[in-house]
Amino acid sequence: MPKIFVTRMIPETGIKALKSKGYEVVVNEKAENRSATKEEMIAGAKGADAILSILTDKIDGEVMDAGLPTLKIIANYAVGFDNLDVEGAKKRNIVLTNTPGVLTNTVAEHTFALMLSIAHRISEADRFSRAGKYHAWGPNLLLGTDLSGKTLGVVGLGRIGSRVAYHAVRGFDMKVIYTDPKSNPEFEKEFGAQYAEKLDDLLPLCDFVSIHVPLLDSTHHLINEARLRIMKRSAYLINTSRGPIIDEKALAKALRENFIRGAAIDVFEFEPEITPDLKELDNVIITPHIASATEETRNKMAEMAVDNIIETLEGRTPPNLIK
Ligand code: NAD
Repeated sequence: MPKIFVTRMIPETGIKALKSKGYEVVVNEKAENRSATKEEMIAGAKGADAILSILTDKIDGEVMDAGLPTLKIIANYAVGFDNLDVEGAKKRNIVLTNTPGVLTNTVAEHTFALMLSIAHRISEADRFSRAGKYHAWGPNLLLGTDLSGKTLGVVGLGRIGSRVAYHAVRGFDMKVIYTDPKSNPEFEKEFGAQYAEKLDDLLPLCDFVSIHVPLLDSTHHLINEARLRIMKRSAYLINTSRGPIIDEKALAKALRENFIRGAAIDVFEFEPEITPDLKELDNVIITPHIASATEETRNKMAEMAVDNIIETLEGRTPPNLIK
């Protein structure tokens, strides 16, 4: 009977689907409120045919070797796969899969929730009200910024970036400038968007900048101090991609010294640690990597990861193969 090692509990629908195939499902119950440890992953990989991993699991050659010769697939419960050693898996003939597409709308919604919250100072206003500071309506109380009519810079016009751009243009009459290695003339035509070949050309023009690139060597610290300094002083930075894409120390400095007006971030450079300065600043909103966290989407991600496992173990090419 194939053994499936699940590094942390996923929605029940996924576990049920695996069990209905007659697989032995071993969930790493120890990692209830924390990430799985390397030792737990190595122990769980032994004798497993499949590992269902999450984005905080650093699956390296050592974990893969622990699963050989039985391990055939590692199904990542995420669209990003910077936690997997892709070359290492290729060398060992282990299939890797991810969950693209099913979380696009949810992450785009969360991006907008962050953008609206920082521009309208929602978290700050909530803290203010709870602290008993609301004594009278005032013409200058907690003034924010409109989104309507402003310019949004989209860094990475992939699935999520283009959905964010769609909401910006259709919902808020925003102008979109985007940068991506590949331009998309059809998108430009449909949404009146403008292509910037270089990030440095986009940054000085935007009122909001939203990051949607994968974490790669080439995108590590893509937003650094020099780039924060060329943004408008009135601009806001939103990040729902991966933490290390922003130099977090430089971001804290930029927010403290007002190179930019604010930031709203769902992901952190040293997750789950958050640069202490950020927690003290009022002009930043922090959510704990929950951009895809809705019941509907997390269920779909579970079903997709499980489908990738079943297809692979039954000898077919899984639908979401990482190449
Ligand atoms: P995608 O592959 O569809 O889009 C990524 C885009 O970035 C592509 O168009 C690519 O060409 C572009 N790109 C790559 N390098 C670039 C660079 N240097 N400059 C500009 N553009 C560049 O991926 P997606 O489904 O839109 O997801 C994007 C990322 O969002 C994922 O890789 C993941 O890390 C992150 N994500 C985070 C959460 C969360 O919970 N916060 C949830 C889902 C996805």
